[in-house]
Amino acid sequence: MNAAHRDAILLTPGPLTTTLRTKIAMLRDWGSWDSDFIAVTARVRRALLEIISGQDTHVVVPLQGSGTFSVEAAVATVVPREGHVLVLDNGAYCKRAAKLATLMGRKTTVAPFDEAQAISPQVLAQRLSDDPSITHVVMIHCETGAGVHNPLQDIARVCAEHGKGLIVDAMSSFAALEIDARAVRFDALIAASGKCLEGVPGMGFVFLRKDIVAACEGNCQSLAMDLHDQYIYMEKTGQWRFTPPTHVLVALDEAIAQFQEEGGQPARLARYQGNYQTLIDGMADLGFKPFLDPSIQAPIIVTFHAPADPRYEFRRFYEAAKRHGFILYPGKLTQIETFRVGCIGAIGSVEMQQAVHAVALALKDLGIASGAPA
Ligand SMILES: *Cc1c(COP(=O)(O)O)cnc(C)c1O
Repeated sequence: MNAAHRDAILLTPGPLTTTLRTKIAMLRDWGSWDSDFIAVTARVRRALLEIISGQDTHVVVPLQGSGTFSVEAAVATVVPREGHVLVLDNGAYCKRAAKLATLMGRKTTVAPFDEAQAISPQVLAQRLSDDPSITHVVMIHCETGAGVHNPLQDIARVCAEHGKGLIVDAMSSFAALEIDARAVRFDALIAASGKCLEGVPGMGFVFLRKDIVAACEGNCQSLAMDLHDQYIYMEKTGQWRFTPPTHVLVALDEAIAQFQEEGGQPARLARYQGNYQTLIDGMADLGFKPFLDPSIQAPIIVTFHAPADPRYEFRRFYEAAKRHGFILYPGKLTQIETFRVGCIGAIGSVEMQQAVHAVALALKDLGIASGAPA
């Protein structure tokens, strides 16, 4: 088979494989001020709020750019300039959040955790008791670096008990893992078009708690990143402040329709869990070992140890898997050599079986007998 004439399947944490229906939605042009496009924006915002049952408690503000743009905008908009941010750090995306908070000029403290462990609500409670100057906590729901599922509900409870703001990067978990805004208290929660909603990349969105929206005015030192300003303008006009990613939004609208038809978040989670199970069972047969304990593993992206065989080199392994039609993802751990395989996107167990087969063929191409690590 010559795989070059069709798209490879993306086993990555975004961009990811999308359906033909989602791609076809992008074949039209839209005027940003036109009533048809304004209606799409309104429909998408309504649907997003419904996913977290946040209609009564939160508003949602979309923002142009990749997911990180929205994390940066959320920190800059929600945290006052004299605020103090505590970042709960168990991986690469936490470190990115700490860096952007620092660059935004907010006082930032990092609470370090092992990247093979979930962040700890007990440690958070202690840190908040020890340092009352902390005003906001930042956490990553699914730490995409290793794939850890962090305990959102428990962290939110500790923040609420201590009267601290909570900013949640739920980029790779939103629409797959359950998030109920009626049960979990947060100031801001961030996700994006090109992750578990299976849209294309190009816009993020931030859920803001209604009772803090007004208080956010004037916090942001950036014009383009000011979510309060974006919100006020969008409420008034129905339009985006600056040129919207029109094709990305209509693709997201179409992707959300398919998400709803599939059965919403529980159905999406079930499909990803099926993908995850097929993947780890198949990879275990090839000798591969996952990095995380299954009890903290989210069914979003799996980190595997690199094989011990000296013929293994990620770049060559990657190119071989690509020739067999699948795109893998490099590891992002600081200490040990790993690679990652995503379970998300418009794929099911059949594609995951094929992915495992492609990995088996890639090993064979490289002359590696087993995926077993050292
Ligand atoms: C994907 C992702 C982001 C955003 O990354 P971008 O490259 O800016 O889209 C942020 N946080 C987490 C946890 C992610 O998985």
